[in-house]
Amino acid sequence: MSAQQSQSTNATKLVKKLVLKGILKVKTGLHIGAGRDAAKIGGLDNPVIRAALRDNQPYIPGSSLKGKIRSLLELVEGVNCLENNHNTNGNCKICKIFGGSAANKQNHASRVIFRDAYLTSESAELLKNADLDYPYTETKTETAIDRILGNAKKGTLRETERIPAGTEFCVEIVVNVMKGQNEPTDKELKEKLALGVRLLNSDYLGGSGSRGYGQVEIKFYDVDVVFVNPNSRDKNEQNAEDNRKNGDQIESQESKSPENKPAVSDDKTEEEIKKETRDLWRSALEDAGLWIDSEKDKCNEN
Ligand SMILES: [Zn+2]
Repeated sequence: MSAQQSQSTNATKLVKKLVLKGILKVKTGLHIGAGRDAAKIGGLDNPVIRAALRDNQPYIPGSSLKGKIRSLLELVEGVNCLENNHNTNGNCKICKIFGGSAANKQNHASRVIFRDAYLTSESAELLKNADLDYPYTETKTETAIDRILGNAKKGTLRETERIPAGTEFCVEIVVNVMKGQNEPTDKELKEKLALGVRLLNSDYLGGSGSRGYGQVEIKFYDVDVVFVNPNSRDKNEQNAEDNRKNGDQIESQESKSPENKPAVSDDKTEEEIKKETRDLWRSALEDAGLWIDSEKDKCNEN
């Protein structure tokens, strides 16, 4: 990158990077399919996806979580990000947050990263020792019912592998707050993610959701602010600070007591900005009913 480019005011800069840590509880049997090739090898009609290097434990691919949350938010906004000519002006916030697709020529990196979710060690231990049909999983046999005759259609018996209700996974969502044209603000990222997770918690994940599979509940127990860029404050925050400062100036004409000092000043330390960010995210998640404090130790080893 040339010096000129790096000084350009339109350049997109990383302002903050944070990691939301949470637990996903499986409320009803969860099936995230491994795909056709695995089905042939495994013998099961409908196996779940497993992590080869983790004792073949079932896991939840980050792409499944991300795709589901994105599609629920697209429903709310009434947009379809896969449509041709979608987002030609680059204004779609969902594309900004979750990444554009080649189809609409807005192919840029996602602002959020969903890590693959693995079993908590407690759940791994419980499932390993449980009397289940397959290692870590149960199976459900289903038939297609003939709606006119009311009986099972011939040759439709299928065995679907599921992660049992009660299983818990460790979830991590990395959030990159950027500064640049059309960038979602820290506040917008908070609101969209909290809404997306809330919607997921009252929807389903994986296959056969309309038949009761895949009810899950994600709650967060930590917000780890791993980076703040001291040279790139979020524009909204900066405006808010300027407003506060202006307000303080007016106030200070009326009262000069030391208690009326600006609550926020420009010379905040990195630690202060981190703490402020953590507190704001935490209270947004609390307000959305997505905070759980008590179970944070379950994922500390992962
Ligand atoms: Zn879009």
